[in-house]
Amino acid sequence: RRWGFNLAGELRQAAARDPDRIALVDEQYGEISYQLLLTRSERLARSLQRTHGVRSGDRVGVLARNHCGLIEAIVAIALLGADSVLINTGLSGAQLAVVAEEQQLGVVIHDTEFTDRMVGLPADVRRVDERGHEELVAGAPDTELTPPPRDGRTIVLTSGTTGVPKGAQRRVPGGFGPLASIIDRIPLHVGDRMMIAAPIFHTWGYAALQFAFAMRSTVVLQRRFDPADVLRALTRHRCTVLFAVPVMLQRILEVPPPADRPPLKVAAVSGSALPGALATRFMDLYGEVVYNLYGSTEVSWASIATPADLRRAPTTAGRPPHGTQLSILDRYGNPVPPGKVGRIFVGNEMLFEGYTSGTSRESQGGLMDTGDLGHIDPDGLLFVDGRQDDMIVSGGENVFPSEVENLLAELPQVREVAVIGVPDHEYGQRLAAYLVLHPGEQLDAEAVREYVRRYRARFSVPRDVIFLPFLPRNATGKIVARDLPRHQP
Ligand code: ATP
Repeated sequence: RRWGFNLAGELRQAAARDPDRIALVDEQYGEISYQLLLTRSERLARSLQRTHGVRSGDRVGVLARNHCGLIEAIVAIALLGADSVLINTGLSGAQLAVVAEEQQLGVVIHDTEFTDRMVGLPADVRRVDERGHEELVAGAPDTELTPPPRDGRTIVLTSGTTGVPKGAQRRVPGGFGPLASIIDRIPLHVGDRMMIAAPIFHTWGYAALQFAFAMRSTVVLQRRFDPADVLRALTRHRCTVLFAVPVMLQRILEVPPPADRPPLKVAAVSGSALPGALATRFMDLYGEVVYNLYGSTEVSWASIATPADLRRAPTTAGRPPHGTQLSILDRYGNPVPPGKVGRIFVGNEMLFEGYTSGTSRESQGGLMDTGDLGHIDPDGLLFVDGRQDDMIVSGGENVFPSEVENLLAELPQVREVAVIGVPDHEYGQRLAAYLVLHPGEQLDAEAVREYVRRYRARFSVPRDVIFLPFLPRNATGKIVARDLPRHQP
């Protein structure tokens, strides 16, 4: 047997080709070479096997922020042929207990800060905190690891913004396939220095880690996202690439730009819609660096917008990269003409293999339903109009929240915005707009309505306009609609 194509396989190959290259820069451990990272992960694997009985085919939960320990855990589990279940750090103790039960976790490796959330776990689930992790790394016997009978996988949980988190099992195809589809549109190079600010437990951060290892890059990690710290670290560690979620770019823009600008070439974001005004403002300040990837846990990335695409059409999600087919279909499965909105279907070699809970996604001729609606303009650029479930039907007219959100985001007073549909006895649904203003700015509800009325049809005008100090977001920066208040608090 050979070592498989997963994070452990990537790390082995990178360590064999470039043992002394720095794999990670981590606040706690400093610089760690590819060889040292592999050695530590191998020791952890042997100890997990010996002390906790982890075997090929088992499932091990990992609940951790972005740091060296998280990566060692994922690699160690894969080295044993076991599956790691990456747990969203935003889950409550009760949700965690459900996940542990559903995913049949035997062991959970977790950061010390999450100890309190472990109380609801079934008693027979073994827990390894950061001290335990270090003891396992230190205490390993020096026996050789041999390739396991099966390739360990990584199971990423959907964030659960629309319900209970689902486990999505990912097949990681070997070779350069996935990487080719990225470097086709994003100028990443072997040896780049990359900061992964997006959470690694999410598909996007995890994918970034895979690119980084495949390209033998140096990965810079910080446990918590703080915009000023990120800017400092980008400059100090001479990072050329930043992987983030859109709201992180927003936060970075809110702190003064450092005199010593980071040498950024690429700031790639994914996970939720990138407001057009944000893309433009970020590029005006930090250069032509923004790449917008549209995708999901289920289909990985399906389209990529380059800085040139975003300059042309700031709200675009770009074009499908090499190896990806994307179609906009009507409800009967027929392609819709350019400019018309339909359901987005995607085919590539990275489609997930199904939820661990057994439900599936609809597919048409090998293409999978993304659950999103969108359209393609005459130039071939994709625009994601929103989730099928989020479309608002007001008085029989369809309105996409994203359309009104993008419009409102252009108001100079507005820092963040969310639009949702709320039940209405007369129209079925009406629009509610939630606005966070820049400090010191003022705006009243009628001015907001008047502005929308000027550019959009009557049914797109939000009847409820609510001002908030911040928007409720999950750990990946998505707005949690159920936590938005119905009335001005
Ligand atoms: P859950 O289904 O539990 O809520 P999740 O869907 O939030 O989990 P993801 O798989 O990361 O977790 O979400 C993918 C969805 O996010 C896409 O289907 C799309 O609606 C939205 N999305 C992601 N990236 C973009 C983007 N660049 N532009 C617009 N929408 C995006």
